[in-house]
Amino acid sequence: EAKRGGRGRAFSYRPGMAEAAAEARRLEADLRLALETGNFQIAYQPIVAMDEGRTIGFEALVRWNDPERGLVPPDRFIPLAEANGMIVDLGAFVLSRACKDAAAWGTDQFVAVNVSAVQLSSPRLMAHVVGALAASGLPAHRLEIELTETAIVANAAQVGHVLAGLRTLGVRVAMDDFGTGYSSLAHLRDLPLDRIKIDRSFVSSASTDPNSLAVLRAVTQLGRDIGIETLGEGVETQEQLALLRDLGCRAAQGYLLGRPDFEVRDAAWTPERGAA
Ligand code: C2E
Ligand code: MG
Ligand code: MG
Ligand code: MG
Repeated sequence: EAKRGGRGRAFSYRPGMAEAAAEARRLEADLRLALETGNFQIAYQPIVAMDEGRTIGFEALVRWNDPERGLVPPDRFIPLAEANGMIVDLGAFVLSRACKDAAAWGTDQFVAVNVSAVQLSSPRLMAHVVGALAASGLPAHRLEIELTETAIVANAAQVGHVLAGLRTLGVRVAMDDFGTGYSSLAHLRDLPLDRIKIDRSFVSSASTDPNSLAVLRAVTQLGRDIGIETLGEGVETQEQLALLRDLGCRAAQGYLLGRPDFEVRDAAWTPERGAA
């Protein structure tokens, strides 16, 4: 039995589709419930400065703690929360929890919070940021907002305004997963960015793919020249870490230095000792 999709595209019914649709509805209902009860946990992954090996901050990575599904990774529910708009409330929850946690660390380390395209387009984002800072007492410079290029492109009209507002507050802004989206040099030139997080695909393939290495080198150099700190994502080996250091990358993040963890743990790595 064929049904008519939008724009006259026909698709056919396959066994399992009803079940999949039912599971999708259950997932959405359960996620809504989790939002009401705050049934989320935040894992923190260390971000390390290359020069001294100090853990300068942590990225907040949300996990959904579902009674039946267990710990659900963000890739399984963030897209859904973006599609149905729940991400705005979920994002507000993560912001306030992350700021509260960071304020209790008793260090000067920053907390980096991911903000999606839908949140960026929400008129409530600024109020959520201001509210999270005020309620936690976290100094604004200890909060970093991570945006992807996709989020920036999707909000081209208002993004300059929002980022200027964040900068006025003293909140730092990082471009996440750089190189995977619509990488535009105009963004690096025009937007008030504090950090470029170079996507892990470049880091992982740099030793086998000369083009990846060339991109890593160029972006690191560009960051230096225009005064934006660079960070290499997804560092899993000593070789990758050494390469990023040699290229002059300012910071690194990855399993080698520390996995996302519910306990906040500084990376054990120092330039002298290497990773423990
Ligand atoms: P992201 O912001 O790029 O976060 C980095 C992801 O890479 C994390 O996956 C992290 O666990 C993983 N990762 C870190 N180091 C390594 C490594 O050495 N090797 C490999 N293979 N992976 C590494 P995670 O926690 O599953 O998060 C996936 C994505 O979900 C994030 O990508 C981010 O886009 C999104 N996300 C997570 N938390 C939030 C949130 O609170 N709000 C929003 N809007 N998105 C979030
Ligand atoms: Mg991120
Ligand atoms: Mg990233
Ligand atoms: Mg990512």
